[in-house]
Amino acid sequence: MALGFNRLLLRQFEKKSLNTLAAPVVAAAAQPSSLNLLIEKQQFGDTVGDIKSKTTKKTLDFDDGGKLFRSVTTGKLLRSMVNQQMASYEPIVDIGIWVMRSRLVDTRIIRELIMSVVKHTFYDHFCAGENLDEARRTLQKLWDGGLKGIMDYGLEDATDNASCDRNFKEFVKTIETTKLLPPSSVSYACVKITAICPISLLKRVSDLLRWEHKDPSFHLPWKVDTLPMLSDSSPLYHTLNRPDPLTPAEEHDLHQAHQRLLKLSEKCLELNLPLLVDAEYSSVQPAIDYLTYSTMIRINRNNTPIVYGTIQAYFKDAKERLIQATEAAEKMGIVLGLKLVRGAYLSSESQLANSLGFASPIHGSIQETHACYDECASIMLEKASKGTGAVVLATHNIESGKAAAARAEGLGLEKSNEKVQFAQLKGMADGLSFALKNAGFQVSKYLPYGPVEMVIPYLLRRAEENKGLLSASTMDRKLMSNEIKRRLKAVVMRHKAEENMPPTNH
Ligand SMILES: Cc1cc2nc3c(=O)[nH]c(=O)nc-3n(C[C@H](O)[C@H](O)[C@H](O)COP(=O)(O)OP(=O)(O)OC[C@H]3O[C@@H](n4cnc5c(N)ncnc54)[C@H](O)[C@@H]3O)c2cc1C
Repeated sequence: MALGFNRLLLRQFEKKSLNTLAAPVVAAAAQPSSLNLLIEKQQFGDTVGDIKSKTTKKTLDFDDGGKLFRSVTTGKLLRSMVNQQMASYEPIVDIGIWVMRSRLVDTRIIRELIMSVVKHTFYDHFCAGENLDEARRTLQKLWDGGLKGIMDYGLEDATDNASCDRNFKEFVKTIETTKLLPPSSVSYACVKITAICPISLLKRVSDLLRWEHKDPSFHLPWKVDTLPMLSDSSPLYHTLNRPDPLTPAEEHDLHQAHQRLLKLSEKCLELNLPLLVDAEYSSVQPAIDYLTYSTMIRINRNNTPIVYGTIQAYFKDAKERLIQATEAAEKMGIVLGLKLVRGAYLSSESQLANSLGFASPIHGSIQETHACYDECASIMLEKASKGTGAVVLATHNIESGKAAAARAEGLGLEKSNEKVQFAQLKGMADGLSFALKNAGFQVSKYLPYGPVEMVIPYLLRRAEENKGLLSASTMDRKLMSNEIKRRLKAVVMRHKAEENMPPTNH
């Protein structure tokens, strides 16, 4: 029903006819109610008004909605706003998440019905298409609007070598396809290590690395040169007992996984296309960092950052790990590439720690996470200015975007410097993406693609992230609704002006 309503609104609007149905909805959404202002204050510290008035020398401009959303049609703006509005409505999202995780989806007809609803709402909003062709078309539209894309085939975690090999081939296909796209329209390729190394092995390797950190005399015969993955403040509760050494079969599988990552990195080096390695849950992250950093040491030579790891700033040990990695990379003379995110597995991390009777590894408050993100960003921007580091600032947070942009300018970083880029997920923070792009920075949208069922775990994470009145999308919806209201007003004024024009005699 919501979908039909959505379409009806769009059709009416795209014809540019003011209609009685759209007006009250748009007007209500655009109304700067005291509740909206309060929400903005609580989440961001600044309201849109504050952002306008406080900034004297602005690096990012959010004031001029016409300029901000210049390349976005009114229909697309309205569709994005309605989708984000639905995604922020907690009861809808909670029911949706419950249904997706329930046995109901085992029944074929119900499953098909649910998939169809998901496809026409959340999927269309957050994903780039069901296959490479559709994703290419989405990327082309972005590129026309001045943004780059990060293509990501939404693969499942792998359980055995056969699924790792299948996934590896898909990653190669995605990387190769960038040759067919407009030059520079793709900023990065990306890979999930959990798709090219069996999860159980990543857990075993992480256990062994943690034990080695606890007891440096613990010998790991298979370990090659890498950067530090754990710090003294890293949680070790996942590994309470001394783990058994890897069996020859496990060592063989680890070598295979390493080779897959190495081959993908070499392919990227050949195409001069940087490769982002995603971060996952803390139970497997040490092994992911081990594989990433050891590959980085081999590939990121000659001042060229090709392999990028990911740091999740919501972890209490994030900054310490980042500093250790930057120092070790500098000593080795390699450019450390890092993508900086806040982290997407908040509730599962806290639940796991609680279930084992340990404190959560996540910062105690969101303000601490914000501060950690901004400090890590500042460190990496400084490294980028010296040429020893490269950073992808992957965030939807307007304050972090503003702080990083101002710091980059303060450090005198050229906006065309490839070592500093910003990124947001498709369907999120378009206002921030366009403000950064208008200021001259290089900005990408992360474009997950693949069959609907395959990207369900990704969509569930986006649903969790966007739900609630204080969700990340609140400011974005506000910017969009202000712009829709401005365009509506312009149409009304034009209609009025036309009505008042004296009739012309022929
Ligand atoms: C290009 C790109 C790549 C990404 N890659 C990864 C990846 O590899 N791995 C990964 O895990 N995530 C990844 N993400 C997802 C990212 O972690 C989430 O989108 C992120 O949580 C949203 O934060 P934000 O920076 O947009 O900030 P905001 O919009 O301010 O969001 C704040 C979020 O922080 C959470 N939060 C963090 N710490 C706390 C705390 N202490 N208390 C309460 N809430 C807290 C809240 O749930 C809230 O959703 C990626 C995102 C992008 C844009």
